[in-house]
Amino acid sequence: MHITSKLPSAGTTIFTVMSSLALEYKAINLGQGFPDFMMSSELTGLVNEAMRNGFNQYTHMNGYPQLREKLAAKVEKLYGTVIQPDTQITVTPGGTYAIYTALTTVLQSNDEVIVFEPAYDSYIPNILINGAKPVRIALQYPDYAVPWDEVKAKLTNKTRMIILNSPHNPTGKVLSKKDIESLRSIVANTNIFIVSDEVYEHLIFDGLEHQSILRYPDLLERSFVCFSFGKTYHCTGWKLGYCISAPELMKEYRKVHQFNAFSCDTPKQVALAAYLDNETAYLSLGASIQQKRDHFRELMKATPFKLIPSHGSYFECYSYSSFSEENDFDLAVRLTKEKGVTAIPLSSFYDDKTDHKVLRFCFTKNEETLEKAVERLVSGK
Ligand code: PMP
Ligand code: GLN
Repeated sequence: MHITSKLPSAGTTIFTVMSSLALEYKAINLGQGFPDFMMSSELTGLVNEAMRNGFNQYTHMNGYPQLREKLAAKVEKLYGTVIQPDTQITVTPGGTYAIYTALTTVLQSNDEVIVFEPAYDSYIPNILINGAKPVRIALQYPDYAVPWDEVKAKLTNKTRMIILNSPHNPTGKVLSKKDIESLRSIVANTNIFIVSDEVYEHLIFDGLEHQSILRYPDLLERSFVCFSFGKTYHCTGWKLGYCISAPELMKEYRKVHQFNAFSCDTPKQVALAAYLDNETAYLSLGASIQQKRDHFRELMKATPFKLIPSHGSYFECYSYSSFSEENDFDLAVRLTKEKGVTAIPLSSFYDDKTDHKVLRFCFTKNEETLEKAVERLVSGK
């Protein structure tokens, strides 16, 4: 039997490669983005309660209605935009799926999609599997700013979509109001859609304000805005997220969703609907995770790694060009084996494996984990 591969150049995602290696070598895993601390016991209690109360069958295909209502209320409060839970929100099995569904809803063969690199590793395969073409634009190293002039220059009559991600994985870069203005002027009077990956919406530091597309009704008309409960509530293994869009766009999105996942985990949606009343749980997230970032930054001063500051997400990038010529993947493997610490090489976020000699570390960990990891980086296992 022979399959003509739809993704001939894809290997195994770097997150699985590095997490498996970390396990094999008993390394401290600061690679793949997940917390090593417990999630809220109140929230897990609510899931248990929902299961005991019989919420164990399919819920509505667009998501548990009360959860969608609570999300709409949250959006209005945070971003000042009124959205309709019945026509504008769909709950999905994770943020990655939410993004995939948006691309699959819109893209036709040979459409062009602008994607900024370094990019979360699902975007380009999601474009390719739909027969469309990624138009890659590098964020400016080392501050990872968006080169809007280059975006303008690369527009063609086939440009169908721009994928945004703020706060950004892997760099922690956060889009500013000025970026939104540039985006607005580029898409005005075009048929270009936007997919805005905002899974790190609450993981934002240094007093910066998240420039959600949801703040801008004119942009929302052409956008699919994607979120993940996994990141907000420290439960990446739950794989639950949601997408918000304009009613006409969401109608098409749901056609794709209904014949794929159809609906998502019911008891967790029931629990999340109740837990969304706890505003502190998400509003305090940025400050508490910033403490971890600051602690990690301080610790890393004892190493020769040079900081590339992050203002959001679970991650901070560090350059090692001052002390090694090694390529970043080899260094990440060697650190895992020899020092017992795992990071992610930034080249994995570039289709052509651009290597600026940078590693990404996940700091969303217990303090002791971070301390032990940096101790190992300094003195070995
Ligand atoms: N986008 C980015 C940038 C991410 O880092 C992640 C991380 N998991 C996701 C989307 C998707 O999250 P999920 O686990 O909910 O699919
Ligand atoms: N978003 C996480 C990261 O960047 C991992 C997601 C995944 O493993 N696919 O590390």
